[in-house]
Amino acid sequence: MRRLIDSHAHIDGFNDPETLMKTSRNAGVDGVVCVGGDITSSKYSLEVAQRFPGFYFPAIGVHPANILKNDLDEALLFLRENLDKCVALGEVGLDYAYDFAKPKDVRKKMREYLGKLLELATENDLPASIHSRSAYKDTLELVMEADVKAVFHWYDGPLHTLKELLDAGYYVSATPAVEYSKGVQAVMREAPLERILLETDSPVFMRSLGRENTPLDVVIVVDALAELKNLDRDEVARVTTRNTETLFGLD
Ligand SMILES: [Zn+2]
Repeated sequence: MRRLIDSHAHIDGFNDPETLMKTSRNAGVDGVVCVGGDITSSKYSLEVAQRFPGFYFPAIGVHPANILKNDLDEALLFLRENLDKCVALGEVGLDYAYDFAKPKDVRKKMREYLGKLLELATENDLPASIHSRSAYKDTLELVMEADVKAVFHWYDGPLHTLKELLDAGYYVSATPAVEYSKGVQAVMREAPLERILLETDSPVFMRSLGRENTPLDVVIVVDALAELKNLDRDEVARVTTRNTETLFGLD
């Protein structure tokens, strides 16, 4: 039985996946879902998962940050050809907070592209790892339309949208920000443990840690979540790990 799983990390941000796997295991972390945000990082997810099966699990996708790049059609083809090797589509989503995403036509392009990406998840019967910032309602609408299973990673949006997404059967994931972010804490208080996954979104610089985080930091997430929800730490670890295994179909 796996102890903890990091359900969303950008492994292309680390230069030694083998050492990272060993140190993670020593820290009690038994798996990492590796998301991709463009063709290059998605290829890397597939590569590490092939080199270290049973620990790294591949997800491939196009992050909304890349919506103005000119290889979008090529990326769709790449995803179409490789999703059968993956546990999820991701990281995909909508993000209206970027400066470049202020114009309406850019937002429209993001929505249309996400629709196409989610169709691929539906065709492959895969869940999606969803990024959403300042676009919570539109993202939820598209995900519901596509009728895919999904986790809204690092969700810190409004609580009324949280209720809608929980009612629709989706998951949310907790990052080390559960230690300090009022928004994330409010979400995590509201969401039932049965709908929460743990993740790090690593590597990202976290002020609370004074460094970039790593998959090992799911240990921080499980402790902070147990404290916040006033639950037993081992139960939080067991249930959230099972949630991750269920959503991504991990054996
Ligand atoms: Zn991410």
